[in-house]
Amino acid sequence: MKHPVLPSLPVLPALCIAHCAFCIPDAAADGLADRYAGEIRFVEDGRERPAISNGTFRLGGRPVFFVGPWIYNDTRKDWPPQNPDPQGVGHFAYREPPGKDVFERIGFNASQLSAAWSLPGQALYGLDVPEDWRGQEAEKAGFFGRFGDQPMVVDFAFGFAGALKKQRPELAREIDQRTPHWHEFVPFCPESPDGDRYYRAYLKGGAVSALRGGANVFLWELFNESSYQCRCPSNAVAFAKEMEAAFGSIEAANRTWGTSYADFGAVAAETDFFRHARLWPDYAKFLARRYAAVLRDYAEFVRSVDGRRNVYFTEQSSVSSIEKERDACMDYRLVADALDVLAYEGGFPFGRSGAEIVGAGEMEDVVFDKAPGHFFDLDLYRALARRDRKPMVNDELYCQRIESGLRVPSRREDLATVLWAELFHGSSGAFAYCWAKRAWEWKDLDGARRMVEKPSYKSAHLLNPYAWPPEALDGFRLFRDELEPFRDRILDVPRTRSDEAPSVAVVFSYPTVRMLGHVRMDYRERLQRWHGAVLGAHYPVQVVFEEDLPAGLPPSVRALVVPSARFATPEGAAAASRLAESGVTVVADNDAFLADERGDPLPCPSSKIIRLDADSDASVAPLLAALAASGARRDATLMLENTGRPPRGSDVQVIDRGDFKLLFFVAFGEDATQGGILRWNIADGGAFYLSDPIHGRLLLNGTNETWNAASLSNGVFVAVPPQERALFILSRNPPIIDFQARSADLAPRSGDLPARSADLTLVDAPAMRAIVDADRVREAPALAEFARRAAEAAAAHDAARRWPDVDASRCTPVPIAGSANMAFADEVAGDGRGGWFDQGSNDFASMPLGRHILAGVPFEIADPATSGGRAAIVLFGTNRDFFPDAAPEIPVGRKARRLYFLHGYGWDETPGTPVLTYRIRYADGATADFVCRAKAEIGPWHGSFAPSDAKLAVESSNPVLGTVNVQCARWENPRPDVEILGIEPISARSAAVPAVVAITAER
Ligand SMILES: [Zn+2]
Repeated sequence: MKHPVLPSLPVLPALCIAHCAFCIPDAAADGLADRYAGEIRFVEDGRERPAISNGTFRLGGRPVFFVGPWIYNDTRKDWPPQNPDPQGVGHFAYREPPGKDVFERIGFNASQLSAAWSLPGQALYGLDVPEDWRGQEAEKAGFFGRFGDQPMVVDFAFGFAGALKKQRPELAREIDQRTPHWHEFVPFCPESPDGDRYYRAYLKGGAVSALRGGANVFLWELFNESSYQCRCPSNAVAFAKEMEAAFGSIEAANRTWGTSYADFGAVAAETDFFRHARLWPDYAKFLARRYAAVLRDYAEFVRSVDGRRNVYFTEQSSVSSIEKERDACMDYRLVADALDVLAYEGGFPFGRSGAEIVGAGEMEDVVFDKAPGHFFDLDLYRALARRDRKPMVNDELYCQRIESGLRVPSRREDLATVLWAELFHGSSGAFAYCWAKRAWEWKDLDGARRMVEKPSYKSAHLLNPYAWPPEALDGFRLFRDELEPFRDRILDVPRTRSDEAPSVAVVFSYPTVRMLGHVRMDYRERLQRWHGAVLGAHYPVQVVFEEDLPAGLPPSVRALVVPSARFATPEGAAAASRLAESGVTVVADNDAFLADERGDPLPCPSSKIIRLDADSDASVAPLLAALAASGARRDATLMLENTGRPPRGSDVQVIDRGDFKLLFFVAFGEDATQGGILRWNIADGGAFYLSDPIHGRLLLNGTNETWNAASLSNGVFVAVPPQERALFILSRNPPIIDFQARSADLAPRSGDLPARSADLTLVDAPAMRAIVDADRVREAPALAEFARRAAEAAAAHDAARRWPDVDASRCTPVPIAGSANMAFADEVAGDGRGGWFDQGSNDFASMPLGRHILAGVPFEIADPATSGGRAAIVLFGTNRDFFPDAAPEIPVGRKARRLYFLHGYGWDETPGTPVLTYRIRYADGATADFVCRAKAEIGPWHGSFAPSDAKLAVESSNPVLGTVNVQCARWENPRPDVEILGIEPISARSAAVPAVVAITAER
């Protein structure tokens, strides 16, 4: 029997939840629901939570940077009460379950809990709950109680969607978010009454249980890794209403949209707005407003339960999607306006890159001074946070060390390095993923290594003694100790010179993001390429939004960089042209400012705009040349003495407080310590002391103890450690760095940090040279070992991509176009026509056409443009059941010792399952079958998985999946002396959808 949808319920001041009239609610659920129903309100409890001012958090009136772990709300499996440290690691963090005591000893001053307890919400929603809910509730209370008054972030990542789908599948389907995209953490549509009820039940139950348990929550994360693009009836109705008001008549709307709706009722009945590209920007903007309104509503709702002072709201973006089609209907400017704190995720890459070993050459051209992509995410958030001086926090910080594709042990300096990098890019807190052991997966150090060695989310686990030798966890505390003497002076916003006086602005274009589903472009890659180049050349850079250009730029900006504005507002485009005419250097992609938000031509932009192809790495050098000619100021630069260029993947930032200046640099792309020239351009007159607080050094200017503007801009010889933060202070007075003045919650420690200025070592240039040389000697054995392993890995990489002993001169391509049914590119997803797998821009448009040596084999790939749109053979798989079971036989007409097949499959299938058979027909009428099994002779086209019995042959990318590939399988012909008449590709009717791209015969 079909389960009817519940009518919407009246919204009362306190959440009113009725049980579904068609279920028999069990007594357990009633008992639990009763404990959370009705009006519940928490009032001021007298405990301290941070205030927010000047864009950062404050405790006890002093600015504070929150450092904490990301923890699960159930830790019993990792710390069984009877034997909390079964592996006998011995470190207190392995012995003692998470709690304030352990955290303070580690150096945490806050924590993030994932996630709010979902069972009370489940009961409030009218679903069944386990009989033992009382025991669970007592356990949760005990768990929360261990954190005492330490400030806590609680997210609402994991609700009771699973229980809802299981107990009420029809209802779950009815309220599912109607989007073709991944939406795990916004499972249901908040616009449907029962979807809205789901979130309110979870928010109320989760908040009440945490507060009853005694958690000192200061930040509620309403959604985790949000994704909202719902095309449901409720949204269609609301959208139609808004559009009727905006356009006045359906004729006006149809003219603008290129549609033929009879009336706005027909708009309200639309099931897929995406198919109208000219309408889509309006729908995307509508949804963006809706999501922001949902955030405001839910914050207000939780506030009705949590009435304590200094309680804030955030949501955590899925940062890698902000510049992708999945977030086309989100506008983080509106999200920022709706929230108190802005939360993001991500981290920096550690581990030897091999750049040092490969040396100057092809590798260098790719990596050269481009900074890691996480810097862009941070700077985008800084731009959002700056709008209203809101603090930003990393709610899911990742810190891993990966070399030659394998997780290797992290160093405590890695933590200090990422935290300083976050701080200098605007962050006021970071919660590291994750405080868990997964103790059930390993028994000893070797087992711990096996669990994390292949990089995955598991390799970020902080309580894995291989990934994080316990002493390396000291890095959290190291950072807090390093920050403590300076935090009063540096944490207020504006913080760095990039905040207060940027010289370069990088444009982020929301009109372009909204249309990413309708064009082929990797916008994120373009943004990272140009922003990374600007940052890596050490310009103070700020991200600005295209729609904000008409309001003008800070007067310090000398250059505007536009990685894409394929779709732009007329006002933004006009403002860019005005800037170019007024003498600001404007460097823009070839496509920028030519079309408006719907793709209609814009007035011709200024010819003074410098045009480059942002899609190409070749654009970086002319971009940097244009910046050099623009007069854009650099407050400080760091150049390697050997190359005269910035270190690879480097960043240099300055916080300038007049008589106290703090400089940070890091070189994420370097593998070994090198000598560098730090040039610091200050405007102040008079003398400064220059010191390195981390190593306790006072840097001498020749034999002088002080420096001035001229000697600083001449350059200071410094050690540039690989992937490790460096800090330098300029101060008017002899530096007094009292690391003993640690925050009250940290116990004194004996240490490796200098206590006072009296302990500073005087270091002149020859002494610094000796430090660099000694570091290089110390690093040499590890580098040599890395080089050996890198060579091994390179050999393995090559072996997975090349068939041995192929005689190219005896190879003949077998044309398959006559049997083909698909092109490589797909214009419209899901129209049952293809090309490729019929998934729109998730296609293989980047397939190399014509003749290529692939996996060592000469192949000829047909060009769909000259073969009637048919170049590949795509066959039946249950995920695409409209493709044929088999293709017409491909004529061969020759003898062959071997056949090579270029192919791959869509979706997935259990390894070993037959996916595709090639039936080879001989001249004597006999046949032979070459059965290709999943992940053996044929593999998935997404990613770069190497099947066991085939070679990776084409590795490319598309905007949806990132890496895509096809593989080359080899068939040894048992009858090389008999002519092969033809080959018939036959689907094995598995879940996987096979595609054949080319065939070659070897005599
Ligand atoms: Zn919806």
